Amino acid sequence: SIPLGYFGGIGAASRQGILVKGSVFLDLMTQLKTVVMDKTGTLTKGVFKVQEVKPINLDVAQLAQLTAALESKSTHPVATAILAYAGDGYQSIAVQNVEEIPGHGLKGQVAGKTMLAGNGKLLRKFNVAFDEALTQIPYTIVLTAIDGQFSGYFIIADEVKPDAAAAIKRIKAEGIRTVMLSGDKTAVVEAVARQVGVDEWHGDLLPEDKVQQVERLKADMASNPKARLAFVGDGVNDAPVVALADVGMAMGGLGSDATIETADVIIQNDEPAKIATAIDIGRATRRIVW
Ligand code: ADP
Ligand code: MG
Repeated sequence: SIPLGYFGGIGAASRQGILVKGSVFLDLMTQLKTVVMDKTGTLTKGVFKVQEVKPINLDVAQLAQLTAALESKSTHPVATAILAYAGDGYQSIAVQNVEEIPGHGLKGQVAGKTMLAGNGKLLRKFNVAFDEALTQIPYTIVLTAIDGQFSGYFIIADEVKPDAAAAIKRIKAEGIRTVMLSGDKTAVVEAVARQVGVDEWHGDLLPEDKVQQVERLKADMASNPKARLAFVGDGVNDAPVVALADVGMAMGGLGSDATIETADVIIQNDEPAKIATAIDIGRATRRIVW
């Protein structure tokens, strides 16, 4: 017979702003044992704001303009924050040969000088010495270098989404292991983890490290052949892990096209609570079908 409940389930989900790309995924939602989430844009708003600028051997406006010129070639949320802070003016600065290094940041020619803007990993990669204590501050920091010299940093903050902690609580109440993975530094990841209450978290991850973590978490469930894993991401760099998960979920508002295309389930209004709602709808649909 035709499983009418599935059509009902997909319809019910879509009325909640949850797009499910096939009835099989609603069923898989009921078998989740692990839910892995990205931090930025998934559990946090993904809207970064510059809090402070600390230049070395130049002034705040100069550092902001030069860095904004470089970041104007990136669509990363931290780039958007630096551009908003810098205001107008950087557009007239010459920028060439910009390279975006995933999980690290940017390198390029700005006003005729070689400039770096990114995290500690980026500066270490190019052998630029900086105060390592900066990596312990529980904020996202964009470090900069000009012609191989550390030239200051930006302190940038994001905010946890208002429903994130309640969403994690509902998912955990289903007996599901909750894990947050992030490319952001561990000090920030830990602060967010404490606010939202996930069981486990890992920071300082490169895109390939996230793949490895998801493979490990899948291996952890191997004793139960029916156990499934979901990954929920916002887009930037997440397509490989979204594809690897049994159920790949994407936040639709901020998500990149690649991730939305790969995802099985799309949460249009970006609320983490909809992860739990999708599980509830999966269960209700199953009761109707069988
Ligand atoms: P996530 O989405 O998990 O935070 P990403 O791989 O997108 O991970 O980014 C990881 C880190 O790399 C960021 O937190 C930031 O420190 C650095 N980074 C990435 N892109 C840029 C950029 N355009 N400018 C500066 N830093 C960047
Ligand atoms: Mg991301």
